[in-house]
Amino acid sequence: MTPLLNLGDHPENFAVSTLNGPSLRYVLFVQGCAHRCTLDCLNPEYLAVKNKVLLSCAEVFDYIAKLQAERGIKGVTFLGGEPFEQAEALAELGALLQHNALSVMTYTGFTYEYIQQKPRPGWRELLAVTDILVDGPFLPKYASDMLHWRGSSNQRLIFLSERYNADEIYAQPLEKGFNLLVRPDGTVKLSGMQNKAQAQKMLDALRQEGLIR
Ligand code: SF4
Repeated sequence: MTPLLNLGDHPENFAVSTLNGPSLRYVLFVQGCAHRCTLDCLNPEYLAVKNKVLLSCAEVFDYIAKLQAERGIKGVTFLGGEPFEQAEALAELGALLQHNALSVMTYTGFTYEYIQQKPRPGWRELLAVTDILVDGPFLPKYASDMLHWRGSSNQRLIFLSERYNADEIYAQPLEKGFNLLVRPDGTVKLSGMQNKAQAQKMLDALRQEGLIR
């Protein structure tokens, strides 16, 4: 039986965005990452390797299918946390998404070569359902604001299927910014590429105004 997905939050607390891959996408954050590649990780709440929100692929897929019908999303981006630590479950979800004409973009702190040379259960299957892989750790010394959908220049966009044309992607103007999702309890989640210091400044200002907690 495929393991459950271990998500960083409930599916309705993740954004639909144009900032994490081509076209409008749902961004799914998984829980747990052992890489700790930077002290400036943008998703510190998803790092702890522990169970958080456990759901079956079918449950998550049902929610995504609703978004596809209601919001017209064109794909899903797997972020984290480390998606390859949950490769079997994400490969199953990815296959369902592909079957329903949704593209899959997967972030990982592992390099593509490492994944190919030292595959663990589900790794090959997750690659097989991924259209675009963003590989490698975020390395602050290579940080740049001028990269499509990644934070440092050692990270690569690797096109694993024919769905997207790399030249067309790179010809698109860079869209930078972040998503600010305010949860019903007033807490917030930032996602998308961002300058952490600027984002923190903005959050502080919103807190001072009493708009968020
Ligand atoms: S791989 Fe991603 S989630 Fe993990 S520490 Fe690095 S930036 Fe954070």
